[in-house]
Amino acid sequence: MTRLLIIGPPGSGKGTQAVHIARHFSIPTVSTGDIFRTNVSNETPLGVEAARYLDDGALVPDELTNALVKDRLLESDLQPGFLLDGYPRTATQVTELDNMLASQSQRLDAVVELRAPDSELEQRMLQRAKEQGRKDDTIEVFRRRLDLYHNETHEVVAVYAGRGMLVSVDGSGDPGDITTRAIAAVEKFLAEGVTP
Ligand code: ADP
Repeated sequence: MTRLLIIGPPGSGKGTQAVHIARHFSIPTVSTGDIFRTNVSNETPLGVEAARYLDDGALVPDELTNALVKDRLLESDLQPGFLLDGYPRTATQVTELDNMLASQSQRLDAVVELRAPDSELEQRMLQRAKEQGRKDDTIEVFRRRLDLYHNETHEVVAVYAGRGMLVSVDGSGDPGDITTRAIAAVEKFLAEGVTP
């Protein structure tokens, strides 16, 4: 039973790493960004509401996001564990998640933070824009997402660091090497309680 979070700036390869790490620990991934994007493309009521925030690189309002995660975490496939990608992103969402987990007598085991310099993040985003055509992968929107990360999400990182459960991983370089580093660091932390 492993419950993990992955946190990283836009362009850090967080989504890609999440898939590999989750596979290693045999747990499903829950990506709030993916859930929002699926809803946007299916034009569901949630998608219609969320689209403008995604397009602007802004955060979707808490009442929508928290409700979505709360419902998802109650589903049976996540009872053996999960890797949350993209949530929590603000200090308020950390408190919400704490309450959701406590109400199910659950707790997180570790939080993976991917770190990479802003210049590399921008390069990767430009590459992804060519490959995937994500609507929020324009320089302007990307910079807004990066600013939000530095201004809001650093608080989330600080909270988990304060709880002694932050596993920081060098997220620059080859994606396969990053996966190897991340899995080794999480395994070590789970076994020995030592953060790299
Ligand atoms: P990235 O981290 O690469 O910017 P994500 O796929 O994690 O991309 O998120 C894409 C968008 O989805 C965000 O810019 C935001 O609009 C919305 N979103 C995802 N997770 C959250 C969240 N926890 N709270 C609010 N909005 C979110």
